[in-house]
Amino acid sequence: MPDGIADAIRGARSILLASHVRPDGDALGSLLAFYHALRLLGKEVTAYCRDKIPSVYGFLPGSDRIVHNLDFTDAFDTVVLLDCSELSRVGDEAEMLKSIGTMIVIDHHLSNDGDTPLSLIDRKASSTGEILVRLFDKLGITMTKEIAVNLYTAVVTDTGSFRYSNTTRDTFILAARLVEAGVEPWKISEQVYESKPLPALKLLALALETMTLELEGRMASIVVTQDMLVEAGALSEHTEGLIDAARSVEGVLIAVFYYEMPDGTYKISLRSKGSVDVERLAKKFGGGGHLNASACRARGDLAEIRERVRIAAVEILERTGDIS
Ligand code: 5GP
Ligand code: MN
Repeated sequence: MPDGIADAIRGARSILLASHVRPDGDALGSLLAFYHALRLLGKEVTAYCRDKIPSVYGFLPGSDRIVHNLDFTDAFDTVVLLDCSELSRVGDEAEMLKSIGTMIVIDHHLSNDGDTPLSLIDRKASSTGEILVRLFDKLGITMTKEIAVNLYTAVVTDTGSFRYSNTTRDTFILAARLVEAGVEPWKISEQVYESKPLPALKLLALALETMTLELEGRMASIVVTQDMLVEAGALSEHTEGLIDAARSVEGVLIAVFYYEMPDGTYKISLRSKGSVDVERLAKKFGGGGHLNASACRARGDLAEIRERVRIAAVEILERTGDIS
């Protein structure tokens, strides 16, 4: 780890922490773990996320401290971007953040911006949370329960409960350390996975109705429209995890989730199994992510978008010899 980052944190007075829009468990867990850690160091700290916190993450210690609007960026001497593969993922305030003196990037995506000197990026880490711990250790931060609960949530959500290929020996060693610090894994699993409101499950039912299999059963797709949200009485945050149903089908190597955004454009989430590279697929549409979990956006007619994705998926499957 470059010493510069720990030094920059030690020297900072007022720090802005920012994570990405449509926050997930890693975005929020990392944001809040760092928030508590910096408070322990006596720093002035503001945790920012543009979007509302999904209700399943309301239990995270400190979640009520997250702010959703930023007016006074000039009050900060340092900004830390967490789990953001590109600055624009912070949302509308991204450009304003550039005026802050020192920028630090901590992430397990390869940053597309690439030119931030103070970057702590490890593509092999399970989550941004897992990388943060290394910095905390360097800074001599005590692993409090508040920090541990946030970090555990970051790790458990980004590894799909320790199921995905980003789960390593280091991940389990960290999990054990977090349990030692007071985390009760079952409680976090219940909060994150078994505390959904009924409309979220109604939405799942509607989404399952749209599931189609293509490419010799190698690709499963589901669609959620704004009309379906209304019918289920669900919120946008309830789309998180729906794609797992598509990936869970036997023989499926690529799962695609088309989500019609309120502005009529589509967010396309992609998941894969094994060495099938959906990051490559997402990049063709200007997005990114990881080998097995990526996303991108597209606008236009859904049937045309689906055809473009199908063509790109064939190419991806041909690379691994998974389609004849
Ligand atoms: P999800 O489908 O859960 O929203 O995102 C899956 C992965 O793709 C995550 O690792 C996330 O960081 C990345 N991702 C999501 N949206 C975008 C995007 O608009 N651009 C890029 N480059 N990556 C994204
Ligand atoms: Mn992450």
